[in-house]
Amino acid sequence: MSRIDNLPSLSEVIKAHELSARKALGQNFLLDLNLTAKIARQVGDLAGSDVLEIGPGPGGLTRGLLSEGARKVLAIEKDPRCIPALDEIAAAYEGRLQVIEGDALQVDPLQHLTQPIRVAANLPYNIGTELLVRWLTPQDWPPFWESLTLMFQREVAERIVAKPGSKAYGRLALLAQWRADAQIVLTLPPEAFSPPPKVHSAVVHLTALKEPRYEADAKVLERVVAKAFNQRRKMLRAALKGLAPDLEDRLIASGIKPTDRAEVVGLEQFCALARNVAS
Ligand code: SAM
Repeated sequence: MSRIDNLPSLSEVIKAHELSARKALGQNFLLDLNLTAKIARQVGDLAGSDVLEIGPGPGGLTRGLLSEGARKVLAIEKDPRCIPALDEIAAAYEGRLQVIEGDALQVDPLQHLTQPIRVAANLPYNIGTELLVRWLTPQDWPPFWESLTLMFQREVAERIVAKPGSKAYGRLALLAQWRADAQIVLTLPPEAFSPPPKVHSAVVHLTALKEPRYEADAKVLERVVAKAFNQRRKMLRAALKGLAPDLEDRLIASGIKPTDRAEVVGLEQFCALARNVAS
């Protein structure tokens, strides 16, 4: 028995439900329930929030969230083999866990959740950045979530919190830091997972700001930043060619030298450029 609840250990759950990990689904399971409870404690005010969890798998983080007091967890899992294991957790934490079998990229979870909503996930690596960018770039702000507490490969986590001038700085840093506070709160070695991935992992906690740091249209900013970093070694006058007429004038009006490379340009200048391109 685990120490956080009366359910069987995760190794027993995996054995009983024959949940051999599938690479195509990005399955690297956390087996230590004390660790999943520790991750759950990074999420914030659990008792006063509904939590959306993507990819619960055998339910390690799910149990962490519930044992740490989450008001409700809505868990979306694509692998049908995991559903009976998750149903056992739902029965033990009566009325507080709802499981949806489906693809997180397709399911609209909002009809099942009540504000305030927090997101927590040990994300399947193949859809992690796509979901993060979606959560960061709705047209309207503030978003449906108060915070995101997400496990990534450490290299991706470093790209989210990176500052200008560093190798990791790029699209993810700009989109994340434009509308949220982002920090790495935990780093985990490969051995924390079964099977162990090749690289270290890290948990990033993002808190939604009430308003974006600088005014810009989300779609335009996303387009400008993607183009700028697509050829990050090139000067911006070349990397952004075709983005708008009179490009060099717009760069200068945004406080950017046309000969600068994207990696030295800060968030404020990129937002100014997005406004100048949109106008
Ligand atoms: N949360 C569990 C843990 O920490 O042990 C499992 C994490 S594992 C890295 C990723 C999980 O996401 C797997 O259970 C996998 O089946 C699920 N998954 C993969 N693609 C998905 C998708 N498109 N929608 C929902 N779940 C998905």
